[in-house]
Amino acid sequence: MAARRSVLRWLMVLIVCLPGLTSAQGAPPQPAPPSAFDATRVRVGLSLRKPVTTARIQALRGTCRYVLSPIPAASGTDPLLSQERSGKIAEEEDLTFQVTHRGLTVRTSEGAEYAEGFGKMVVSSDGVFNLEVYNLSPLILSGRLEITLLDDGTVGLVNETTIGEIIRSAVSEISPSPEIEANKAFIVMARTRLKAALEQKRHASDTFDLCNTDHCLPFHGQGSNRELIEILYQDMPDFVMTAQGKVFLPYYHECCGGKVSSAKDVFGIDDPIHVAREDRIVGKGSENCFHSSSFYWTREFSQEEMADFLSVTFAGGGTRIFLRWDPIKTDAAGRITEVRLFGRRERKMRGVDFLEAAWDYFGINSLKSMRFTLEPMRRTTIYRGMGRGHGVGCCLMGADGLAKKGWSFEDILKFYFAGITLTKASGGPGPATASPPAGPSSPRKPARPRR
Ligand SMILES: [Zn+2]
Ligand SMILES: [Zn+2]
Repeated sequence: MAARRSVLRWLMVLIVCLPGLTSAQGAPPQPAPPSAFDATRVRVGLSLRKPVTTARIQALRGTCRYVLSPIPAASGTDPLLSQERSGKIAEEEDLTFQVTHRGLTVRTSEGAEYAEGFGKMVVSSDGVFNLEVYNLSPLILSGRLEITLLDDGTVGLVNETTIGEIIRSAVSEISPSPEIEANKAFIVMARTRLKAALEQKRHASDTFDLCNTDHCLPFHGQGSNRELIEILYQDMPDFVMTAQGKVFLPYYHECCGGKVSSAKDVFGIDDPIHVAREDRIVGKGSENCFHSSSFYWTREFSQEEMADFLSVTFAGGGTRIFLRWDPIKTDAAGRITEVRLFGRRERKMRGVDFLEAAWDYFGINSLKSMRFTLEPMRRTTIYRGMGRGHGVGCCLMGADGLAKKGWSFEDILKFYFAGITLTKASGGPGPATASPPAGPSSPRKPARPRR
């Protein structure tokens, strides 16, 4: 009942806020992040699905300034190719850069042209801007973007933005749930992951602090930001999960298929937080993620198709080196945790590495997880599987199911992560009870839409 009242309250908040959200003009300014930790500026290395050699940057709101720096001289005697140049992109105007044999060349919609070639461009915005790369969805970014010419003739992209911005974008991107408590859990999980990734200095040898892939947290700008996430984010203290007083890197996946595996079985990491468990509450109906479209799946692979995958991915295209594979270790959940490739040679690997390689080769809709049984046919094999992803940590669809059963975000997190406590990222005590924090007396204004 309390959960239903809470849903109604949020619906009311949404309705009250909607007129402001849909108006592009005169929308409220972007609210400040709720905490010092979330206001931290970090450098995110943007890895897109293909190498970038040309792109367009458009000032969507506010003005962008750009500074072009010369290509550094190769030796002390080489003259510099050009001088530093700068300019601005007015709102709705744009700039296109391209890598040519001279370096980065730039042209703006307002007529400026820099054809001599540069080594680096820094674009800083006081609002938001679009980064458009041909054939990819545009990335809506804020803060500062560094575009650096690389030796291979492509550019490296680093966006300097805030932790709060990454949390909102990442949760909007990964969450399959419309539920308030599930999304609150994902916000806490995302913040915990970022804090742990920064503390672990996962990118100490790079020119950035975090990457935008699953290695740290997916971040593809604000293009997909959902209003519900914006509102929930503004309304919550900056909780993170800790275990024995420390943040940790929480794992998550889309759907476990009813059984979560341990980090020990899947990754070979001794870890008391990511333990195996059934994703169901006894006496409360079916599995928490039973409503996922990936709960059950079937895919048929021909022998040739599988052999091509093995040879391209694991043998550098060499034929007959690996012809087939078989499972050699399976955990209690039925997840294949170790496989053997064989043909002229033999190789063993973790199941999760095999899964990632299959995703790279076939796409994420083919072999959805390593939890499947094999049914050999005459020339094909049928894979009958359950769930999507590695199956460790938080089952996102299960969290959605638990929220639908009336669970709070704190209880959802404690269900998937053993022995954790909630604390504030910026210091101060965490919540004293298991109930979600009380909302504000009047709804705060949400962030401006960024579509
Ligand atoms: Zn990373
Ligand atoms: Zn599940």
